[in-house]
Amino acid sequence: TDNPSLSPWDELPVRDELRGKSPYGAPQLDVPVRLNTNENPYPLPDALVERITERVREAARNLNRYPDRDAVELRTQLARYLTDTSGHEVGLANVWAANGSNEVIQQLLQTFGGPGRTAIGFEPSYSMHGLIARGTGTGWISGPRNEDFTIDLAAAEKAIAEHRPDVVFVTTPNNPTGNAVPPGTVLALYEAAQAAKPSMVVVDEAYVEFSHGDSLLPLIEGRPNLVVSRTMSKAFGAAGLRLGYLAAHPAVVDAVQLVRLPYHLSAVAQATALAALEHTDTLLGYVEQLKSERDRLVAELRAIGFDVTESDANFVQFGTFADSHAAWQRILDRGVLVRDNGVPGWLRVTAGTPAENDAFLDAVRELKKEQG
Ligand code: PMP
Repeated sequence: TDNPSLSPWDELPVRDELRGKSPYGAPQLDVPVRLNTNENPYPLPDALVERITERVREAARNLNRYPDRDAVELRTQLARYLTDTSGHEVGLANVWAANGSNEVIQQLLQTFGGPGRTAIGFEPSYSMHGLIARGTGTGWISGPRNEDFTIDLAAAEKAIAEHRPDVVFVTTPNNPTGNAVPPGTVLALYEAAQAAKPSMVVVDEAYVEFSHGDSLLPLIEGRPNLVVSRTMSKAFGAAGLRLGYLAAHPAVVDAVQLVRLPYHLSAVAQATALAALEHTDTLLGYVEQLKSERDRLVAELRAIGFDVTESDANFVQFGTFADSHAAWQRILDRGVLVRDNGVPGWLRVTAGTPAENDAFLDAVRELKKEQG
């Protein structure tokens, strides 16, 4: 304790595997154009804000009581949304909801991972899969990807056979690269995972509403170890709500009950999410605008001379830079915050409003001129 080089951190009896690690930390900076966390740029429409207010007012009268622990009305409406948009019939028993898909993923790892078990993801991918694995005591295996950021199926199958992970993450469309994983690849990974263990395959579809292709939700039929994870943070424009959900065989929904905290989903969150689901059509209209802005970003970035990874999401990965962090800073200096995910040579920009995207494109045009 007398050693001045020891910080209080060093002295805390923190778990060994957390020591020296960094928390998830996308910068929250106050700049004019924020295109760094894949949020939806459109504020919720007034009619929906009104409906939320009504529903929350009702919920407020009963805040002396715990919320519906099983979130039955909400899960029923989420199931209806999934059925309507995928053409595959899912019901209440197939759906579970939590505070953001991050909590869904945490509950899945608490249920199917944990000490003595491992999970694999194909990186670069969503960094929280590995961080939540660590937080739940699950060993993390970083699986390979091709140079063009597609999944190298043969290498992935080999990694699964070799490590026999308990949980396999497949993010499609992938974050931060933006590309979708072909359904055939997901099926092959599922087969490999079953042959090796059998293990759970978690298909993270946080961005699927922005995809040119369809949700893989119908694949849960006859595949009890396949889980599709979704969120209201992106397509529903409700990142502040914190509402994620999964669709799977009812046995999976039963299993996560063993680890979920009682009353984890507040009555206010349930009321707000239900209001948002009543306005699904309007919100999906914004998704269409964002998809066309995403396609415009891809085309214009290529026209400027950048390399761009094919995108099925509401963001675009572009490069390449000798020093991507320096490029990130130069873009920030022009008032536009994009994301440096630590993928060497590449940056990621979220599709914003047309005006925000114009500001971004102006900034990177100037950057390109500077750098030649
Ligand atoms: N999965 C992926 C692939 C993501 O990119 C994100 C958010 N950036 C999430 C899950 C978590 O989102 P949320 O907890 O807001 O649902």
